[in-house]
Amino acid sequence: MSYTAVSQLSNRSVLVVDDNPTNLGVITDYLEEQGLTVLVARDGESAIEKTILAQPDLILLDVMMPGIDGFETCQRLKNMEETRNIPIIFMTALAETNDKVRGFTAGAVDYVTKPIQQEEVFARVITHLRLRELTEQLEQKVRERTLKLERLDKAKSDFIHVMSHELRTPLTAVDGYAQLLHTLPEITQNEELYELVGYIIEGAHQLLGLMTQTLEATKIDQGGLILYPDKVILEELFTELAHSFEPVCRTRNLHCVFQHLADLPPISADPHLLNRAFYQLLINAIKYTPDGGTITIAGREETSNGRSEIEITVQDSGIGIDPQQLELIFEKFYQTGKAELHSSGQTSFKGGGPGLGLAIAKGIIEAHNGRIWAESTGYDEATLPGSCFFVRLPTT
Ligand code: ADP
Repeated sequence: MSYTAVSQLSNRSVLVVDDNPTNLGVITDYLEEQGLTVLVARDGESAIEKTILAQPDLILLDVMMPGIDGFETCQRLKNMEETRNIPIIFMTALAETNDKVRGFTAGAVDYVTKPIQQEEVFARVITHLRLRELTEQLEQKVRERTLKLERLDKAKSDFIHVMSHELRTPLTAVDGYAQLLHTLPEITQNEELYELVGYIIEGAHQLLGLMTQTLEATKIDQGGLILYPDKVILEELFTELAHSFEPVCRTRNLHCVFQHLADLPPISADPHLLNRAFYQLLINAIKYTPDGGTITIAGREETSNGRSEIEITVQDSGIGIDPQQLELIFEKFYQTGKAELHSSGQTSFKGGGPGLGLAIAKGIIEAHNGRIWAESTGYDEATLPGSCFFVRLPTT
């Protein structure tokens, strides 16, 4: 048999635990002859102590011992963080099937039967040392990859953050000068030019909105959302929001209905961020509901296990969402429809967006220890099944 499977055998240590000195001697001698470093213990208690101190690569454990038996010893080792991953092989009498099952239940990786066959013990020890070595190598690789991915992700976020920031300044200038142009008599008196400058302003606003969303999303990604909690009265928050959407609702004949919002207790939250999250749910409800539809915002309070929560639902009578996409829509840059089918207006039916809104809303709600999810029976532009967005927030 080739033992080159495990690198540097002498660097590998095995703890042999047995109260029978003859057994102990036989196994120890043989394993040492093969090049392994062997430690010994005569009972469970001292085996645990030695394991914590010496951190062997593997343990050969007798079942029947005075004091705590092998099962108990195994269980205790598996319950401790620092010894949990050390593989344990039981040494048990041939006939005792029950013992084997108990051993596996206690966390053992294998067993050898007594009377001990030295070659068999060694073969099993080598197999499990090799397995452990491979697992460690794999874990190391995963750690390295994760670190690399995290670094790449951070570099990407930093890049997006810097670019959005840098683009904002010239864009603000374009917006400012275009607004100035819009007031000059030469422009106001020329219908065509006035219209064209209007397009520049509209475009600049769309781009500025996109930059803002991108900055918000990267901030959430980097865990940089800082909350400034204050007392929030949700009915007031929604009244204000609905007020800002009044012109578009009027143009598109959309009805906004409040239910039980006045019954909600005040909550402690960041008013600005919460406003931002609910703004997104409302603007989406508007975007994905055809003219003439209804958007219902309802609230209720729930107390479970002595914990009080409020639930806000934003229900629309729009095109709905495919149930398979209900979770995906909260991911960054995710859009259910084809981008080219989106119209460009932010509040027009199926108006375009970069697919960041719900990711931002989710980040904000989760930063408040809340939950957000969506329900819909399906996507259908003809029957309009509608969508319902749920937000749960702790009251304090
Ligand atoms: P977008 O900028 O595309 O609106 P969001 O993150 O706000 O990005 O939403 C992601 C996707 O979820 C949208 O592209 C849309 O397909 C779907 N969606 C969001 N809200 C609704 C809704 N109320 N009804 C139907 N679909 C919705």
